[in-house]
Amino acid sequence: MTSLPVIPVDPDAPGRRPAMPPRHLADLDLPGRKALVTELGEPAFRARQISHHYFGRLVRDPAEMTDLPAASRDRLAGALLPRLLTPVRELACDDGATRKALWRLHDGSLVESVLMGYPDRVTVCISSQAGCGMACPFCATGQAGLTRNLSAAEIVDQAVYLAGVAASGAVAGSPPRLSHVVFMGMGEPLANYSRVVTAIRRLVAPAPEGLGLSQRHITVSTVGLVPAIRRLASEDLSVTLALSLHAPDDELRDELVPVNQRWKVAEVLDAAWDYAATTGRRVSIEYAMIKDVNDQPWRADLLGRLLAGRSAHVNLIPLNPTPGSRWDASAKPVEREFVRRLRESGVSTTVRDTRGREIDGACGQLAAAGDSDSEAPRGARPGVAVRDQET
Ligand code: SAH
Repeated sequence: MTSLPVIPVDPDAPGRRPAMPPRHLADLDLPGRKALVTELGEPAFRARQISHHYFGRLVRDPAEMTDLPAASRDRLAGALLPRLLTPVRELACDDGATRKALWRLHDGSLVESVLMGYPDRVTVCISSQAGCGMACPFCATGQAGLTRNLSAAEIVDQAVYLAGVAASGAVAGSPPRLSHVVFMGMGEPLANYSRVVTAIRRLVAPAPEGLGLSQRHITVSTVGLVPAIRRLASEDLSVTLALSLHAPDDELRDELVPVNQRWKVAEVLDAAWDYAATTGRRVSIEYAMIKDVNDQPWRADLLGRLLAGRSAHVNLIPLNPTPGSRWDASAKPVEREFVRRLRESGVSTTVRDTRGREIDGACGQLAAAGDSDSEAPRGARPGVAVRDQET
């Protein structure tokens, strides 16, 4: 069997220091864009015009911005709309209802996003970091370590780009307008806190400042960084919090979600209940069903006792085994019994649909696959090196 061990390298070694991308209009609020446009010698109202093209019309090609003088177009677009994401691969499955995009960033890092169409809504799943430092052993992204944080605009641009794909009618049987965003792609959003909060502000600000999504239609998924959850509760935002619990007991959670060694189950749930109380939003508890690891009836009962009477909803995720993984998804009868016990405890529970499996749909697998045959030089992924090893 082949596995991919992580060999840490010095992130500060020459040539390896993570380089952030150029500034983009989505990094700035409208006053910031006006100041920049004025610095370029253009009237301030051009900031609103170019913002309208990007966030309102989902247009990024200067040639289509015909209300801007031809002489200014390229200069404004050059300063405010540098290309952040280069598509490496786009894959569709589920009869076109799921589309996955693999992007190369300016430094060669690879990240992915997924567009999912439903009869009543369109959701994008976006990445907040290139790689991830949380090291959850069942997650493909966690195996390769953290390369770098994404900028706010790199985060927002994934949603804007895929909103444009949806608007072109590419997702048959779904509304054309992007409505939901989940931070469930690569990375730990709360470990890139300020850029993620900036990105959320752009996603919810009405056009032309932002994409105009509803706060309640944005979900931030976290391993459970307690101080950051508390800080998020204190922002004037009420986005949905998803907590990746995966085990109701510290002994197992210490292994499945290593950050549990720092903030224990009781502590992270306390922060989650405070978040629910402050924001009025029910917390989503994520639980990957892993065969013979966390799917025992007694763990369902313990989880039920922890969550009963709380403002919570459980999302069970059938494990999507990563290549070479020693773990598998729970058997369906075991999963059904787990659901039955949770519901018997009075806990609202659903099983997540498994979109995109045949295109390495979930959880870092596309970026992992793309890494092996892309033109991205190895050295362009600072922080870690990955090599094959016989075991
Ligand atoms: N770092 C954040 C968000 C990214 S992952 C977090 O951990 O919440 C989004 C969800 O997918 C998390 O609940 C994560 O634990 C889960 N996940 C990761 N790998 C998975 C896999 N192989 N199968 C099923 N769920 C997985």
